[in-house]
Amino acid sequence: MSKTIAINAGSSSLKWQLYQMPEERVLAKGLIERIGLKDSVSTVKFDDRSESQTLDIKDHTQAVKILLEDLSRFGIITDFSEITGVGHRVVAGGEYFKESALVTDEVLAQVEELALLAPLHNPANAAGIRAFREILPDITSVVVFDTAFHTSMPEVAYRYPLPKKYYEDFKIRKYGAHGTSHQYVAGEAAKVLGKPLEELKLITAHIGNGVSITAVDGGRSVDTSMGFTPLAGPMMGTRTGDIDPAIIPYLMDRDETFKDAAAISNLLNRQSGLLGISGQSSDMRDILAGVESGDHDSTLAYEMFIDRLRKYIGQYVAVMNGVDALIFTAGIGENASDVRASVVEGLTWLGFDIDPDKNVFGAEGIISPEDSRVKVLVIPTDEELVIARDVEKLKQA
Ligand code: ADP
Repeated sequence: MSKTIAINAGSSSLKWQLYQMPEERVLAKGLIERIGLKDSVSTVKFDDRSESQTLDIKDHTQAVKILLEDLSRFGIITDFSEITGVGHRVVAGGEYFKESALVTDEVLAQVEELALLAPLHNPANAAGIRAFREILPDITSVVVFDTAFHTSMPEVAYRYPLPKKYYEDFKIRKYGAHGTSHQYVAGEAAKVLGKPLEELKLITAHIGNGVSITAVDGGRSVDTSMGFTPLAGPMMGTRTGDIDPAIIPYLMDRDETFKDAAAISNLLNRQSGLLGISGQSSDMRDILAGVESGDHDSTLAYEMFIDRLRKYIGQYVAVMNGVDALIFTAGIGENASDVRASVVEGLTWLGFDIDPDKNVFGAEGIISPEDSRVKVLVIPTDEELVIARDVEKLKQA
C-alpha cells in the first residue's frame, strides 16, 4: 500500500493527482495557480468535494508545501511517509531520454539543460522536481518525458531538410509531444480491439487545445505531427500548426510589430488557430456554437480545423502503408462527436467509417460500424496514470 503523486508543473502552476498504488485509485487531485503572483489559488478535489484557498505562494517549493499541508488538512493522508513516489511530467527529453528515468543530480541537470528546447516548460518542470527533493528527499522520484515515446521515430521522419550542421550543432529535429497520451491510448485501443499492439497499425489523434497526430506501427511511434516544438502539425486552438515558413521573414521585413522573435512566436502560438480564424474563441464549444448560428468566420475555422486533421490522418496511412484503427482522444477528440463525424466523413474512401448511433457524447470504445475496414475508437487519455505507473515500474527496478 503506497501513495504516488503525479506532478505536472507549469511556469506559474502545478497540477497534481494522488494515487493509491498499485490499485491505481485516484485519492485526490488539485491545481495550484498563479504561483509567484499575488492571490495564488490552491484547489483540492476529493470525495466529490472541491476546496479552494487563496494565498500568496512565492515559488514551486512553497506550492509543494501547501499541497502537502492540504493533503493532511483534509485527512487524505495522515503522515507524509505514506507518499512513497512522485512522478514529474517533463516536456522536453531531447535525444537523451528514451524512457522515464529515476531522478539523480545528473538527470536533473540534463532536464535543466534541455530548457533550450522548451524554454517555457522545462525550467518549471525542474522547479517542481527540486521542490519535492527538498521536502520529501527519500521518496522515489521519476521523470516522465512527453518526447520519450517518439524517440523510436526513424531518422527519415525526424530530420528536417536543413543543412546537416543545424541538426548536429543545434539539435534541430522533430521531437514530438503528448507522447504519454499517444502511448497510453494506443495500448488501450489494442485491448479494446483484442489484438496484440505489436500487430497493429494505429493513428492516434490527440485533439485538445494542442493537437497532435501520431502514426503508431507495432506499438512504436514512427511519425508524429508536432515537431521541433509543439507548434507544428494540424491547426490548433491558438496555434497555427504548419504554415509556409517564408511567412515569418516576410512579416519581419514588412511589419514593425514583428521586429523580434518573441513577437512572431506570440502570433503563431497564441493568436492564431481557431482563435485567429474565428476572431472569437479558441474553444471548440464556442466554435460549434458559432457554426450553429451561421457565423461565417466560426464556420471557416471549423472547416479548416477538420481539413488539417484529415490531411494528417491521410499522410499517416501513407507513412505506414495501411491502418487498422484511428483513435480519438483529449478534450475535443473525447467530447466533440461532430468533429469526429466531420473528420471521418472525408476519409471513407480510405476505409474509415463511423456509426452515428455509437458516435454520441460520452462514447467510449469502438464507434465504427461492424463492417468498417478501419476501426474508429474513442479512448479517454490519462497522462497522470501513465506517470504513476512509471513510478511504480522504476520503484521495482
Ligand atoms: P489541453 O490541450 O489544454 O489539455 P483539453 O484536452 O482539455 O486541452 O481540450 C480542450 C478543448 O476541448 C477545448 O477546445 C474545448 O472546447 C474542447 N471540449 C471540451 N469539452 C467539449 C465538448 N463537450 N464539446 C466540444 N468540445 C469540447
